[in-house]
Amino acid sequence: MKIYLETYGCQMNVGDSGKILHLFRQQGYEPVAAARDADLVVINTCSVREKPELKLFSALGRYIPLKRRNPDLVIAVGGCVAQQWGERLQEKSPGLDIVFGTHQLDRLPEMVTAVRRRRIPLSRTEFGPVPGGLEVMARPESGTVSAMVTIMQGCDNFCSYCIVPYVRGREYSRPSRAIIEEIEMLAAAGVREVMLLGQNVNSYGCKTPGEIGFAELLRQVAGIDGIARIRFTTSHPKDLTDELIAVFGELEKLCPALHLPLQAGSDRVLERMGRGYSASAYLEKVEKLRRVVPDIALTTDIIVGFPGESEADFAATLKMLEQVRYDQIFSFKYSPRPGTRAAAFADMVSEEEKKERLARCQAFQDEISFAILAEQVGRVSEVMVTGPSKRGGEWSGRTPENRIVNFPVAAGEIGPGELLRVKITEAMKHSLRGEVAP
Ligand code: SF4
Repeated sequence: MKIYLETYGCQMNVGDSGKILHLFRQQGYEPVAAARDADLVVINTCSVREKPELKLFSALGRYIPLKRRNPDLVIAVGGCVAQQWGERLQEKSPGLDIVFGTHQLDRLPEMVTAVRRRRIPLSRTEFGPVPGGLEVMARPESGTVSAMVTIMQGCDNFCSYCIVPYVRGREYSRPSRAIIEEIEMLAAAGVREVMLLGQNVNSYGCKTPGEIGFAELLRQVAGIDGIARIRFTTSHPKDLTDELIAVFGELEKLCPALHLPLQAGSDRVLERMGRGYSASAYLEKVEKLRRVVPDIALTTDIIVGFPGESEADFAATLKMLEQVRYDQIFSFKYSPRPGTRAAAFADMVSEEEKKERLARCQAFQDEISFAILAEQVGRVSEVMVTGPSKRGGEWSGRTPENRIVNFPVAAGEIGPGELLRVKITEAMKHSLRGEVAP
């Protein structure tokens, strides 16, 4: 049997798709690169922004007609859009066999079996106390250097624009024992770098009596032999504690890179977003971090055109970009998500204004990003080899700050996972070039 898997959205979804693939591999399925060659098509969706939803309906428009040629084809949709729409997805897209919610990932194999047997559409979107599928531990494919490990799911913050608490459910932290066991298994299989994942990783354990906190979890992960680098995403500025900041100075394996979503630079907008911090409180944390790790690379998320955002509010966001000097930003136009508080705000910013501000924001940041890359020229960095470079003929790797470096090495001399000292020789638009240092 063959499975075709399509994933939209964030890294959490990429991690979930790895688990789905693992579950079906255990049943003898092999992945294929095209839906037309598959017996099972799974689309793992995201609804944080509008685009992936549109993408889903266009994908279903292409895949459902494949059933004319292959009546045994089963089509399933999971993830946040599935959670949000439930069986209404099947009303909108007749021919869609399975809708599985964000807590139902581990039920998918039995749902596929039931659909094959009875040929009736199925939909399961209930929330359980523990999200199903979190304990599915996908073995890495041979040669995998970097692996994602979900440590928590859901969110209790209810920022006014965000759909996550409604589609992923309330915050749930996996038992630390299970996380450590999974990472030990990954390390034994050759994985050298782990990315700890969750909607709000730095509140890990806070609501589970008797569980350790995130800083302690990082210490325990750092104690696992074979793991050379630890990263995590995504975190909330209000939960960035002094203890967690100190851990950056304490643990050599913890990479000096942090994704710290700002969203907006104006206190008025932050307040309406329900973010729980002001611009000055955010800056204070950045300063504390930089006192501990002066070269830490920061990245962030920015929403432009939030309801009521004035030109002065937007200017405050640009000012924050200038003050913090992020390596990279992930910036988006605000899009109302159904059921969220902000969707009911009356003072929407026009599409043209949002578009124009987004372009200005990105152009402003491009200059900062390039300046940071240019500052690296002449430095020697420890690079973890990830594989051949995209353009070919060279190798590619990442610095501890997560910057991409391409460099020439004679074929066969190195392999993924190796740590090399690389001298940076040139800054490109989004990456660096270098040569292996003697
Ligand atoms: S912290 Fe806010 S933006 Fe992040 S997932 Fe939770 S509700 Fe959404």
